[in-house]
Amino acid sequence: MFASEVASPYSINEATAFLRRFPQAVPAAACTRLIIDPAFSKRPITILSLSNIKELQAISRTDRFLDIGACVSMTRIINLPNISSLEPLKKTLLTIGSASIRNRASLGGNICSPDSFGSAFPMLSCMEASVELRSGNQSRWLRIHELVSEAGRPALPKGSFLTRLRLPIRDWEFSCIVRKGNSILPGEHGTCFAALANIEKNAISELRIAVAGTIQVRSRDLEMNLNGKKLPLAAKDIENSRHQFMETAIEAGLAPSIAISSADTVRAFLQNLSGESA
Ligand SMILES: Cc1cc2nc3c(=O)[nH]c(=O)nc-3n(C[C@H](O)[C@H](O)[C@H](O)COP(=O)(O)OP(=O)(O)OC[C@H]3O[C@@H](n4cnc5c(N)ncnc54)[C@H](O)[C@@H]3O)c2cc1C
Repeated sequence: MFASEVASPYSINEATAFLRRFPQAVPAAACTRLIIDPAFSKRPITILSLSNIKELQAISRTDRFLDIGACVSMTRIINLPNISSLEPLKKTLLTIGSASIRNRASLGGNICSPDSFGSAFPMLSCMEASVELRSGNQSRWLRIHELVSEAGRPALPKGSFLTRLRLPIRDWEFSCIVRKGNSILPGEHGTCFAALANIEKNAISELRIAVAGTIQVRSRDLEMNLNGKKLPLAAKDIENSRHQFMETAIEAGLAPSIAISSADTVRAFLQNLSGESA
């Protein structure tokens, strides 16, 4: 990597001032992903290092939300005590890299690559996270789904950086994270499957399922179809759901073999929810 210009500001205001001068600057957090990205070894880039900005290391909570600064490391999140609503995210982060990578790697860096989704993305999508973005001139909140283009690819607005991630505080009775394939990141050779569900009066009261590969797929129609269904689910309902997810994934553009394998994971999750062994 050849950096033509580097800034390492100590405040968000200094960072936005730098972005106004260099709108093409690439934000960098711990660089555990930037250094393995071949795109960055080929051309000179201007770097906006965010790692010295204290506000981006902050964690705060209210009754309804948990706010996590973009540069908070995965290990810090994994070690946060007494927040049961964080368990699905912690489980997800534990699948990423090694302990030494997680000690450095930031949650923001996992969400923000322009080329492919990080492994935490589908779970954050299921958790309905929101993100705060800063550009040279403004600050705004977006739902995490708004960082996915219509074609299902990462779509972080250019000329901005992520400052905070906001998670609703709510518990999930069932959570599931399954990584398939042998690649570090979700993509052509690997997927990351995430699902969350709650059960009330022996029926599914809420269900969310997302898979990230080359694109991210979330089938809201399937989620709606299954909401309110009594457990255990009938074998026919499980097979129909598997089929519906597979069709949605293929239509969205996932390779057929990956779509089939993701649909199999949907089936296994629903079987588990129904108390059957997968
Ligand atoms: C051995 C190894 C194993 C790994 N395993 C996994 C894995 O299993 N799953 C996985 O998802 N990743 C994996 N990674 C990649 C990487 O560690 C993670 O994606 C990590 O979360 C990136 O965080 P970072 O702080 O290092 O981001 P950086 O490398 O600094 O940045 C990553 C990307 O996000 C952008 N960016 C960073 N912060 C911001 C911000 N605040 N606002 C806007 N853009 C920003 C950068 O421009 C860049 O495009 C692995 C890496 C290594 C070296």
